Amino acid sequence: MALPGPEWRGLLARRWAELDPPLRERLAAASLHDAVRLGCDLLRTEEEEAALVRLCQRVCTGKEPEAASFYREQGNREFGRRRYQMALRLYSKAASHESPSSPEVSICFANRSAALFHLEHFEVCLEDIARAESHGYPDRLLPKVLLRKAECLLCLGRLQDAADALSVVESKIHMDGLMTSPTHQTLLKKLSQLKVKLHEKERCPEPAQEARGDMQGKSEIWEENDSISGASSSLSLNFDTERGRHLVASQDIMPGQSLLKEEAFVSVLCPGESLPLQDSETAWDTRVTNADLYCHRCLRQLLASVPCRGCSYAKYCSQDCADMAWEQYHRTECSLGALLLTLGVFCHVALRTVLLAGFAEVNRLVEWSHSGDKDPHNPKAGCKCLSETPEPGAGTRGIPGCDDSGQYHSSYQAVFHLLPHTEQHSPEHKFLCMLSVVAICKQLQEAGLHAAVLNQESSEQWPKPKTSEQTLDELSPELKTVAEAMLRHVLQLQCNAQAITVMQELGPGDGAVVNKKPVRLATAFFPVLSLLNHSCCPNTSVSFSGTAATVRASQPIPRGQEIFHCYGPHQCRMGAAERQQLLRQYFFECRCRACLDELESDVKSVVSMRNSFCCPSCQAPMQGEEDLLCCSNEACATSVSREKLSRRLQDLQQQIKKALDLLRDRKADQAVKMLLKCQMDAGNFLSPEHLLMGEMEDHLAQVYATLGKWQEAARHLKKSIGIVEMHHGPSSVETGHELFKLAQILFNGFAVSEALSTIQRAEEILSVHCGPQSAQIQELQEMKTCLSELPRSILQRT
Ligand SMILES: [Zn+2]
Ligand SMILES: [Zn+2]
Ligand SMILES: [Zn+2]
Ligand SMILES: [Zn+2]
Repeated sequence: MALPGPEWRGLLARRWAELDPPLRERLAAASLHDAVRLGCDLLRTEEEEAALVRLCQRVCTGKEPEAASFYREQGNREFGRRRYQMALRLYSKAASHESPSSPEVSICFANRSAALFHLEHFEVCLEDIARAESHGYPDRLLPKVLLRKAECLLCLGRLQDAADALSVVESKIHMDGLMTSPTHQTLLKKLSQLKVKLHEKERCPEPAQEARGDMQGKSEIWEENDSISGASSSLSLNFDTERGRHLVASQDIMPGQSLLKEEAFVSVLCPGESLPLQDSETAWDTRVTNADLYCHRCLRQLLASVPCRGCSYAKYCSQDCADMAWEQYHRTECSLGALLLTLGVFCHVALRTVLLAGFAEVNRLVEWSHSGDKDPHNPKAGCKCLSETPEPGAGTRGIPGCDDSGQYHSSYQAVFHLLPHTEQHSPEHKFLCMLSVVAICKQLQEAGLHAAVLNQESSEQWPKPKTSEQTLDELSPELKTVAEAMLRHVLQLQCNAQAITVMQELGPGDGAVVNKKPVRLATAFFPVLSLLNHSCCPNTSVSFSGTAATVRASQPIPRGQEIFHCYGPHQCRMGAAERQQLLRQYFFECRCRACLDELESDVKSVVSMRNSFCCPSCQAPMQGEEDLLCCSNEACATSVSREKLSRRLQDLQQQIKKALDLLRDRKADQAVKMLLKCQMDAGNFLSPEHLLMGEMEDHLAQVYATLGKWQEAARHLKKSIGIVEMHHGPSSVETGHELFKLAQILFNGFAVSEALSTIQRAEEILSVHCGPQSAQIQELQEMKTCLSELPRSILQRT
């Protein structure tokens, strides 16, 4: 959710309607500076602030001991059922609610280490054991955990370490050895088993495992641009009044060539939709969200998360990440978790942006923006309008966001220069953003975080603001500056927010074929990537790794052509008229080739043709723009209302969802029956090229794959690929992902030669979009190596 939730939006919409017309006019015309000053007076303690407090109470981001014990019990239950993946996540949730360095949190880590052991994540298991030990794990329980440590070391082949661990645990057991309790007996038994295992391994050591990663041979050609950090030397930065800043190929570019590599200036994990973890209805939410799955700071996938010391929301991949986030921004954000979740991710990005930039830099640029000056380094230079074209021959000097020497970096200055389109946002929207930002700044002041905001490095040294002299409602001048910068960033995000997406695994993830779908993970500012203009038929493809973006050419780009990326709707997904409607939120009318072609010719968009209905009686295409659709076959003369067919489509989608739920509950046979029924039904009223027809084939392939029926799975997936190619193009990333699935299915079914040719095609497409180092390419190459090592006899049979 980018913007504040519906209740807060509704409240402010009513407030806006109640304002005196002259005040509304003043607000509509106000500069960012004046808007913040007006906002401070308009936010009322009794009404808006109280409402926010109520809304925040629904979001739990603090540490609650009751939640911790609940999650731990649930984790134990799942562990008992041998559902280790679920147990792992529940123990992580439990740990996030325990207070740091308490014996309780050490028990969570110890329990989690047991789940990790069963999942064979031995290295991470050792980390959790170390964590348990360092957080004061109860001494009497220690032997069991130490035995697990020894067993982990054995599994990792670290025999000396394992021997050392065993002797430590042996002396420990003997020290407490007077007991003859059953637990004590079990421990002794386990100890002797492990000693036998150790001796066996010592007598015939396993050959050292070959280091993986030698496949990464192909390094990419990369020569960095002199004037734009993170851009390839094959690009140049241009500027004109019509297109603004934009990047152009300064030489011929090959498909797959990397054009930009940029680390996000700032990124904030989106809470995302909750995935059902288990179906029990309880007081505490057992579902997992992005916050449970990805590191709060670096977005790496979490296995055994490190909780924040202050809240239950932020979880990290490592202690290092937790410490860095704390230093950079989280010590200010930590107590504001519920408010930031309530006000939406745009407000959160705005706050984190100013925290990362530091108050001095924020203050410098805000001051500069008041002077109306062109050069932020030299406040005395003459006044020039921001959109004015730089003098010819000046190179990149004078292009907004560039520094004195004409360099463009990912910096706060570059972020500050992204267009906020202040005049184009509706006054009501500006009112909403303004009061939200002011509410955050007031909260910062009330929570005593004023000093932390002003100086991130050593907040303790700064004197506390003299709150006694100010009325409580009054924001300090510094926080007003912060609010003004934040308001600018929230408005900029409307056009410049870049979603960081990843391919997320669906379902239990224990099948031979991995089904993934792209999900939005975070919202970020990428000032260099923002130089690219939009096109509905872009010539590049963007992929992400953690918080880094890579842009690659998806087709040959001749010298002189502009580089585009698609940040709105793609021409494959909707018609031009619909696209123009959506793009209005970015305040521009798209003039890309696809839009011009489609809008100028009277031809109906191919997308709507493909995704159309067909006649329920004779299956010919249905025609008509209005509410009544008629069969295109004159002899048939059937007519049906559009609404009726749309309702039928919705019912069908519901049925498909139910079939997928069955698959998730491991009822594959029932899922097949249901999907085949859906397919029959769909054939009666959907065009055979409809995207949903392809999706059903894809789901069927997935179900057959879980049943190990590889040939059937392959047959259905090929039909799906046909439809995906038609909609997205044969060399699109979507087709690449489908081919990747087909390669897995053929591989599992030992269809060797076909698998090899499919791997080849998938590799060609995916390396263009995701690069030769991507996880999927690595997996394809491993499959290829594995197949080529098969005995000749098998190869010849296929
Ligand atoms: Zn991390
Ligand atoms: Zn925190
Ligand atoms: Zn377009
Ligand atoms: Zn008909």
